[in-house]
Amino acid sequence: MEATIEVDALRKRYGPTLALDGMSFTVRPGHVTGFVGPNGAGKSTTMRVVLGLDAPDEGRALVGGRPYPSLRTPLRHVGALLDAAALQPSRTGRNHLLWLARSQGLGARRVEEVLELVGLGQAARRRAGGYSLGMRQRLGIAAALLGDPPVLLLDEPFNGLDPEGIVWMRGFLRGLAAEGRAVLVSSHLMSELEDTAGHLVVAGRGRVVADTSVADLIARA
Ligand code: ADP
Ligand code: ADP
Repeated sequence: MEATIEVDALRKRYGPTLALDGMSFTVRPGHVTGFVGPNGAGKSTTMRVVLGLDAPDEGRALVGGRPYPSLRTPLRHVGALLDAAALQPSRTGRNHLLWLARSQGLGARRVEEVLELVGLGQAARRRAGGYSLGMRQRLGIAAALLGDPPVLLLDEPFNGLDPEGIVWMRGFLRGLAAEGRAVLVSSHLMSELEDTAGHLVVAGRGRVVADTSVADLIARA
């Protein structure tokens, strides 16, 4: 599957709120695309529409040229981090992942692999009730990576990370893209994305207000 995300003229209304007002952009494989904009700009709604969790009123979102998920693009082709908090406190992080892996037909070995990738080898054997937000973010990314998806959508993955975690996350996301994945990363803080993303989509009030390479942005500044 070609790992491109196309967001095409999405409109979405929640009662009186126009959440998406013509949102359009493309995410290319092999790059981290930063999706930046203030809270309420429509970033999460866009990601939910791409994932098929929310239906747009108008427009469409395609993954690898097709609506997602479809028969040709099974669920494991796209990994997503939408809410790092969805964990049962009494379960260990590892057990949470084992349960997710089983539901995707994957074994325990893949769980150990993704835990190593996100640097949670030992910590994930403790109960999730005591996890910091940073640990929950790492666990959420481990879950997103289980099926080794060519496309990743990560909503505010820097939230709750300490300075060391932020540095780790930057390098980790760049590495995922360097392996050929399309990586879309949202943040309400430009500073979190400027050293991470090569390309920036800036959203405001449900639409794209700038779509630019970071190098061009810096050259113009
Ligand atoms: P962002 O992720 O950029 O912060 P969102 O996509 O979460 O923006 O929200 C865009 C707008 O849509 C906001 O005004 C938000 O309050 C509204 N919104 C999002 N989801 C819902 C929902 N399920 N019900 C009602 N309003 C919503
Ligand atoms: P870096 O060189 O910092 O690693 P990238 O490899 O991510 O940056 O980006 C290299 C070039 O590809 C940039 O000019 C960037 O704008 C362009 N590019 C990346 N993603 C997209 C996209 N979704 N749409 C248009 N151009 C893109």
